[in-house]
Formats: sequence, C-alpha cells, structure tokens
Amino acid sequence: MTNKCRGCGAEIIWMKTPMKRKIPVDAEPVWIVVGVPGRKPFIRKDGSFVFGVKVGDAYEPDDPDSEVVECYESHFATCPVGGQFRNRQPRTRAPGYR
Ligand SMILES: [Zn+2]
Repeated sequence: MTNKCRGCGAEIIWMKTPMKRKIPVDAEPVWIVVGVPGRKPFIRKDGSFVFGVKVGDAYEPDDPDSEVVECYESHFATCPVGGQFRNRQPRTRAPGYR
C-alpha cells in the first residue's frame, strides 16, 4: 500500500522498523551493496536498517562474497522539500503513557 508524501507528492510506503517506529520510504525499491563504506542507511524489507551503497539492478559485484540486496531508501533523505513533513508528524507518546 502506498501513500503520497505531503511535501512533494512522491509515492511513499510507511515501513515499521523493529523498534516499532514508522518511517516513510520511497515506494520504488533500490539495490544496494551491503557493507561498502558509505554510511548511508537503507531499510530492508523486514524494516531493519542496513548500511551500503546504491547500485543499478544490473550491478555485478567485483567481490563474489558481497551481498546485494533490494532495499528501500528513506524518504527523509530523498524528499526535495526535506524536513517539512517530518514536522507535521506529531510526536507520539511512549506506549502506556497517559
Ligand atoms: Zn517528499
């Protein structure tokens, strides 16, 4: 299920991380090589974070041991209007707090 970013109108998906946080990601998945120094976080399909570098889908790794996975890219990073809609997300209280 996709949604539209309120900032730029791009198609996004809300992913739930293992920490039970929801983050918006671009609806179009990207391929990344895991572990290449680059420090850019991507989100695996199970919601966990992984660091890697984005590559094309025809990428052939030099190192046969390197892991190429399909991930999502955080929309915070790609949104042209950036932080705007981050501010529109009301801070939710910790579970159990009333
Ligand atoms: Zn956007």
